[in-house]
Amino acid sequence: MTLNDLHTGDSATIARVRGRGAFRKRLNEMGFIRGKNVTVVKSAPLRDPVEYRILDSNVSLRRSEASLVEVISEADFRSTVPGRPGKVSDSFQRGPVMPRPGKTIEIALVGNPNSGKTTLFNRVSRSSEHVGNYSGVTVDSKEALFSHRGYTFRITDLPGTYSLSDYSSEERYVREHILAKKPDVVVNVIDANNLERNLYLTSQLIDMDVTVVVALNMYDDLLARKDTIDLGLLSKLLGIRIVPTISHRGKGIYRLLNHVIRVFEEKDPDIRHIHINYGEEIERSVLKLQELIRLTPSLTDHYSSRFIALKLLERDDSCAYLISGAGNFMEIKAMAREENQRISNLFKEDTDSLITDARYGFIAGALKQTMKRSGADPGFNRSQRIDRVLTHKYLGLPIFMGFLWLMFHATFTLGNYPMQWIEQGVGLLGEFIHANLAQGIFRDMLVDGIIGGVGGVIVFLPNILILFFFISLMEDTGYMARSAFIMDKVMHLFGLHGKSFIPLIMGFGCNVPAMMATRTLEDRNDRLLTMLIIPFMSCSARLPVYVLVAGAIFPETAGNVIFMLYMIGVVFSLLMSILFKKTLFRKSEAPFVMELPIYRNPGIRVILRHMWNKGVHYLKKMGGVILLASLVIWALGYFPRNVEYSKDYEQLISLEEQKDTEQSDSQVIILNQQMESERQQNSYIGRLGMALEPVIRPLGFDWKMGISLVTGFAAKEIVVSTMGVLYHADPGNEQGTASLQERIRTQVYTEGPRAGTRIFTPLAGVSFLLFVLFYLPCVAVIATVGRESGSWKWAAFVLFYTTAIAWTASFMVYQLGSLLQLG
Ligand code: GDP
Ligand code: MG
Repeated sequence: MTLNDLHTGDSATIARVRGRGAFRKRLNEMGFIRGKNVTVVKSAPLRDPVEYRILDSNVSLRRSEASLVEVISEADFRSTVPGRPGKVSDSFQRGPVMPRPGKTIEIALVGNPNSGKTTLFNRVSRSSEHVGNYSGVTVDSKEALFSHRGYTFRITDLPGTYSLSDYSSEERYVREHILAKKPDVVVNVIDANNLERNLYLTSQLIDMDVTVVVALNMYDDLLARKDTIDLGLLSKLLGIRIVPTISHRGKGIYRLLNHVIRVFEEKDPDIRHIHINYGEEIERSVLKLQELIRLTPSLTDHYSSRFIALKLLERDDSCAYLISGAGNFMEIKAMAREENQRISNLFKEDTDSLITDARYGFIAGALKQTMKRSGADPGFNRSQRIDRVLTHKYLGLPIFMGFLWLMFHATFTLGNYPMQWIEQGVGLLGEFIHANLAQGIFRDMLVDGIIGGVGGVIVFLPNILILFFFISLMEDTGYMARSAFIMDKVMHLFGLHGKSFIPLIMGFGCNVPAMMATRTLEDRNDRLLTMLIIPFMSCSARLPVYVLVAGAIFPETAGNVIFMLYMIGVVFSLLMSILFKKTLFRKSEAPFVMELPIYRNPGIRVILRHMWNKGVHYLKKMGGVILLASLVIWALGYFPRNVEYSKDYEQLISLEEQKDTEQSDSQVIILNQQMESERQQNSYIGRLGMALEPVIRPLGFDWKMGISLVTGFAAKEIVVSTMGVLYHADPGNEQGTASLQERIRTQVYTEGPRAGTRIFTPLAGVSFLLFVLFYLPCVAVIATVGRESGSWKWAAFVLFYTTAIAWTASFMVYQLGSLLQLG
């Protein structure tokens, strides 16, 4: 019988986990090991994946993966399999460690995703890094300095991990940090809602023989459940000081720091290094390996020989490099292989599973002695009740889609009102300055360069804040993880992973954090694939362009047009995903093992703060990059000033003005237009645009659109500010108030075969919008792809393939449309 044969509500005991190495290991780490009880909670609305309850947490698995977990009834298990609990064995006092000079204590925060590391980090460092209720929020390490009781603390917030093996990039990152940076004290943040699984990571830290202090976080939840735990005894058993904390309230944090100091000063009598007993046979192999490793003392100065021996025995080759300096490297490797074989033959089970089993056995034993459960679990029960609706068989998907719809509508409809106010404000400011400053280059720069450029972007802040509000809401409550659960089946159809959905959704906010969010995907191929298609998610910076152009050309139906653009982006990304999956990434997929955290009410203030933090980021981008870009573009369009005109406009205009008839008035306007246009074409930017013309003419763009697209590489909002600058200088706004949309709508070609016709015909507009949707993401995104993928080849690939697609799409639309005489 496998997990897959169980029905909703059924429970059983796990007998065995079959499957590939990495996959099985992952399941082991999440608590799917022999002898543990598992209950089927429910299937996702599309029947796949399925949510299971194991070790006090809810985890989702795909059906194909669940079928690899063999289960038997609890009664059968008890009668056949003898228990094999790990025990605490020989322990010794920690040997003298040379205290570091100076009074700085380096702390690394290590713990499961969602255990509250970042909350703790923010509390002690008084910063406001992003916290959220789904795994993978902290993707980078953050560092902060603060002082406490005469010590300077350097604290590092690390990504969340379930273990320190070689399964995901986060695990490697954290392990490397501990091994290479050698923090003085590792603060292991533990979620009191799920001690067993959280302590698994602790057991690995014990093996690494690093100095640990445990922050037993979410202690409020434990109290609410009326569970009791003997922390003194548990500390003794583990040889690690355990301090209860409630980090979002700031409770227990000073005690925690005081204990860190005590442990650092080696004044805590309970602290000792324990050995988890892995059973006679494994211990014998460990000793053998240790003997070989100890032959190279320089190794054991840095790393615990027991840790290296265990890792080698587990065949975790990522640690092999630690001993690569040893003269007997080959001998050690050979012995590790031999012993691994010996043990798996003896027990008819893989050595790493045996080790995992023993770890969990050790933890279960320690908890049995120290913890009393009341049986009640209000937080979990509340979560179950919420999930009864939100991931309901029939309601789950519509609710999710409804939520997305609401998110879009609020962003675009509601956001429109404040947008208009800001627009008016910016316009008034421009007019005010225009009226009150003396004519000259400074006024031109201020009004046309700065206010025209930055003002054109700042008006979109409300839309963006609303979008960020919804994304923060999803992240902070825990709904984001549910969205992956709900969407996995669909994503899987396109060769993607349910977890890809979150980065893709975040892509609507900004592609940069979205690229970083792909770190939650354990499999490199899944991750790269997701990164390649994220650029088609219309980021918030593209929204201003859509609103501007769609609003100008399709004033009645702009909302629908914009929605279509978003949809085209989504559909296209999925198609590209299938294509890439079939060509570039044909290898197998990573398992879908994901925790569904209990729902939390973060409170409106927290959500608003997160929204604001993201909004501020947008503002900063505007203040720096965009301001600079606006000025450069304005200057490129403003100079050179001494243009040699083809006609003597000044004279012609004054001649006409002397006539002073109705006909001559309009003649003056036309002459002014021609003069300005000629001047622009001769400006530096005009020359650049002209050079680009042959490439973009088949797409229906004029040179100003071409320039806007080029400058948009710095950031896509700049497309708008460039247009603001370029079209501002046009006549027709001499009357002042014409908004940018109005100006775009009324632009006409002033010469050439199309003279007198509108530039932004509906067809040209659509072609332009498509180009903006598809073409190269901004510099920041390209840089992120390079960094995250670890290869600039992928960055270059993204740059060129998106632009090629953009050009092709616009070309086909415009040319076909022209043939059919649309627009
Ligand atoms: P990280 O992934 O370990 O960095 O976890 P976060 O700091 O992002 O926190 C995850 C969630 O747990 C957030 O919604 C926090 O507000 C919440 N949280 C953090 N500490 C506590 C605590 O002590 N008690 C409770 N009830 N919630 C907490
Ligand atoms: Mg975090």
